[in-house]
Amino acid sequence: MVSQSGTPALGAFMTDQQRASLTGQVAVITGAGRGIGAAIARKLADMGAAAVLCGRSRAPLESTAAAIARSGGRAEVAECDVMDLPSVENLAAHVERSFGRLDILVNNAGIGGFGGPLHQMPADAWDKVLNTNLRGVYYCIRSFAPLMIRAGSGHIVNISSLAGKNPLPNGAAYAASKWGLNGLSYSVAEELRTHNIRVSVVCPGSVDTELTPHTGKDPRKMLQADDVAHVVAMLVTQAPQSFASEVLLRPTLKP
Ligand code: NDP
Repeated sequence: MVSQSGTPALGAFMTDQQRASLTGQVAVITGAGRGIGAAIARKLADMGAAAVLCGRSRAPLESTAAAIARSGGRAEVAECDVMDLPSVENLAAHVERSFGRLDILVNNAGIGGFGGPLHQMPADAWDKVLNTNLRGVYYCIRSFAPLMIRAGSGHIVNISSLAGKNPLPNGAAYAASKWGLNGLSYSVAEELRTHNIRVSVVCPGSVDTELTPHTGKDPRKMLQADDVAHVVAMLVTQAPQSFASEVLLRPTLKP
């Protein structure tokens, strides 16, 4: 199977068993219109999950849904702003009505904000970064965890960053949001494991997407969105008795 770009299409190296491993499951992926979220959505749909694609703009979500449909997968588009609690609650109610279950929640939606030193950052820019990258994850867990708790199972995967492990000059708010997300993830993992819900956090280094210009980096050596999708696929297909609570993902060669 070869994609239009001539590179092997997603799923080309999967066995039939891997491809079918999520059949019957439902996955919500935030920020699924492009970049890492789109790659995760395509991967989970390729493995048989019905993918619910969340984002603020409809057109990119439809393009991800169309790619999934072309590969024979199932996807649904859901306009939703993770900064807005009623919007997230409406989506959770819709998922419960339509599917009656949620097996996988991938909290991927995020924004950058690498504009300069913190003392020059406008307060509304700080709010946007924290309200998307951290509050948005809280809203999604608050809205979707009850569905998983009722079922007594589920996976929540939070997409953080190595910026949540290291200092990031000129990106202090972004780093703060991701350090916060890591702390949230470790704590919620302990809260929800008693309900048989596994919460993991993935911390990638720089990925070749539209999030930042990546000036001076060689995109061929950078992590690709599909690399993060691969990690998510591993996390949600572990044997029931274990879970990798945190994955740090680095490029092999320094870009
Ligand atoms: P992109 O900018 O390519 O995509 C971000 C996606 O998030 C878009 O689809 C956007 O859609 C969506 N989004 C943004 N705000 C909201 C919101 N309020 N509600 C719902 N959806 C929203 O970024 P990446 O794919 O690169 O990043 C994805 C995640 O990975 C982020 O959390 C990022 O921090 C993390 N990450 C990225 C790295 C990188 O180098 N690229 C490295 C490490 C981590 P729309 O605007 O239509 O809502």
